[in-house]
Amino acid sequence: MIISTGTASGKSLAYLTPAIASCLDGGTVLYLTPTKALAADQLRGLRELRITQVRAASFDGDTPFEERTWVRQHANYVLTNPDMLHRGILPRHAQWSSFFRRLRLVVVDECHGYRGVFGSHVAQILRRLRRACARYNSSPTFMLASATASEPGVFAMRLTGLEMDEVTVDASPKGSTTIALWEPPLTELRGEGGAPVRRTATAEAADLLADLVLADVRTLAFVRSRRGAETVALSARAKLADVAFSITPPFPISGSPWNPPASPPPTALPATPHDISTPPPPSAHTPAPQNTPNSPPQDATTPEATPTPHTASAPTPPRPWLTPSPHPTPRPATPPSTPASTPIAASTATPSPPNTPSTPKSSDTPTPSSSISSSLTWALPDLPDPDLTDLPNKIAAYRAGYLAEDRRLLEKALRAGTIMGLATTNALELGVDVSGLDAVLIAGWPGTRASLWQQAGRAGRDGQDALAVLIARDDPLDTYLVHHPDALFGRPVEAIVLDPDNPYVLGPHLCAAAAEIPLTEDDLPIFGPTTSNVLADLVTQGLLRKRPAGWFWTRRERATDLADIRGGGGTPIQVVESSTGRLLGSVDEPSAHTTVHTGAIYLHQGETFLVDLLDLDAGVALVSSANPDYTTFARDITDISILATERSHPLGPGTLHFGEVEVTRQVVSYLKRRLHSGEMLGDEPLELPPRTLRTRAVWWTLPASAVAPLAEAGIDLGGAAHAAEHASIGLLPLFATCDRWDIGGVSTELHADTGLLTVFVYDGHEGGAGFAERGYARATDWLTATREAIMSCECERGCPSCIQSPKCGNGNEPLDKRGAIRLLSTLLIP
Ligand SMILES: [Zn+2]
Ligand SMILES: [Zn+2]
Repeated sequence: MIISTGTASGKSLAYLTPAIASCLDGGTVLYLTPTKALAADQLRGLRELRITQVRAASFDGDTPFEERTWVRQHANYVLTNPDMLHRGILPRHAQWSSFFRRLRLVVVDECHGYRGVFGSHVAQILRRLRRACARYNSSPTFMLASATASEPGVFAMRLTGLEMDEVTVDASPKGSTTIALWEPPLTELRGEGGAPVRRTATAEAADLLADLVLADVRTLAFVRSRRGAETVALSARAKLADVAFSITPPFPISGSPWNPPASPPPTALPATPHDISTPPPPSAHTPAPQNTPNSPPQDATTPEATPTPHTASAPTPPRPWLTPSPHPTPRPATPPSTPASTPIAASTATPSPPNTPSTPKSSDTPTPSSSISSSLTWALPDLPDPDLTDLPNKIAAYRAGYLAEDRRLLEKALRAGTIMGLATTNALELGVDVSGLDAVLIAGWPGTRASLWQQAGRAGRDGQDALAVLIARDDPLDTYLVHHPDALFGRPVEAIVLDPDNPYVLGPHLCAAAAEIPLTEDDLPIFGPTTSNVLADLVTQGLLRKRPAGWFWTRRERATDLADIRGGGGTPIQVVESSTGRLLGSVDEPSAHTTVHTGAIYLHQGETFLVDLLDLDAGVALVSSANPDYTTFARDITDISILATERSHPLGPGTLHFGEVEVTRQVVSYLKRRLHSGEMLGDEPLELPPRTLRTRAVWWTLPASAVAPLAEAGIDLGGAAHAAEHASIGLLPLFATCDRWDIGGVSTELHADTGLLTVFVYDGHEGGAGFAERGYARATDWLTATREAIMSCECERGCPSCIQSPKCGNGNEPLDKRGAIRLLSTLLIP
């Protein structure tokens, strides 16, 4: 069965009850979640119940090898993820025989995350799991938990291959949530082709996050990209650092050995702006070194030896992201600790050596300056919360992929309120249990109404009222939505799209299944209707061998290596820091072209790196620490040829098609945009090899007779088709549950294969992912919304909010905004 209801409606309890009952009954439970973080959260919850018969353990990449044997042999409640099931558990099913034999219940939590290609892989992994269970004579119940979705039963059946009951009534108490749709203004800045630049959603989100945290509102900001989340956290922290510096004298925190007993009024002695951001040079302003508590000030030009409050802030490292406040800082020009009565015994007892202003005694005492200058790291939850100078540390960034201990630390800090503002990618959407939030900021349309409500539902637990703000990006879909609230409210959420029959997905899992237990005729129905054909192909390719007893994997490699369930395939590229040789992470090969090309800005755990060199042959991207004020976007050019037309029907005077295509994509340059303003700084060429992709596409054509009047009216047909293509790529995610980056497009005034004006939109995954097919099915609505989005934007000749695309390999040339509206109107003539 599947339970498909809103956030915090009690789904966990609904599966925990039968799960625990199964354990008490001598059975075992397998709990699957898309993220390790969620598994850890669930495990903590289970352990807090203190039921001795439930021996719960997680089994994932973080589980130490010495613990794994114990988990296999003794745990009766195993929490894992599809990746580990695929690579670690199913291939070694014999070692898990006693667990599988007693398996009663499989919980698939947060299963709305299993969509597109990833979802298709998970669907096949679950089929392999069912087969392994059958081997040990168990037939577990599958219990799925999902955010609200359309037709959850249909989705659950595609995911598991089993008949499913659905539970969709949500009777949990809810406060009301105020939803704001927020469109950032156009700025004076000019981008490509002189187009106006809208203020970025991340800049607006950073401002709102800082404001809400200042108002003591516990806020979560969802930002689409990891890089964006880190940018929002950094700039919100910088804003709070400004505030802290402008309204708080950097007095030492209480408990410090040099804590002044009485502070002068902060307004008494404003300091110069110079004092705020740079270390003051030794001057008459600089406090004198103190040798004894009662000694008078010494020669004022001697280097400081004692960290008085003033000098403690002096050695602050440069903070390029921290600009001086325009307001004079109310701050004493002379240290308040100089009076004879000041108890500064600890400092004065051990005077620092001369000429060492960079070593204040802050090793065991966090000084105001050190807490701010170290703001690239998170606040430790056990730190005291001294005063406003700790404000920046109340904001952090979070994403999947941080080390387990860092994730735990951050989750703990958020629960404790040490952190009040968190910027995150949807890593957190996938279930980490964060309760008691007051507001949610959503920077950019999260892709689906289901995700929007899921993210908005994070705010306002326990029936409290809450705030959710959707901030539009400069993207045609976002523009459309903030101008058409009816597209969001009072509409059912989307169905979850996946295609387990995609042969590029099914093939590798049939190999893995054969390696686990040789495949027989009886197994074929489990894997779907296309199985026989795909098996025949695998035999031809020499991957499987057909014998009278069935299909066998006879190769020495691991069959599971064939399926890259989350990535786009290929050998991962290692990201290495040039100066130290430190391995920062890895990026799958197709994404490497767009994320770690030479010159790309790469963020890792809040640190910014510049890619010095991408060496595809060596499989390495060399990076160095950098702090530029711009981000980069890779741009590609694309060729497309039609391999087979599977379906077509008339659309206005033209024709709509769906079928198989071959796409050749090449990343040719990258765009540099200023970080906070979005201003375009330039387009740098790149030399990378082209990549070929066989996939599915939807395309439309218009006959010469229909476009001739437009050309006569002075419309640039190529520019009109190009603009319509960009905007329609932007709008397709509203109709197919995909990401703008999951799809691509090509447009031409005259395509070689059709001989007509043609606009293609294709799935960016080998074999297709079902998105273009959705576009085909919803073409009229999709293209109508595309035209509406272009018309809604108040720019004159086109901008990133309507027809420009940041990944356009042609530098957004040519584009014709009015032409695109005319062209789409022609196509949509009933
Ligand atoms: Zn525009
Ligand atoms: Zn383009």
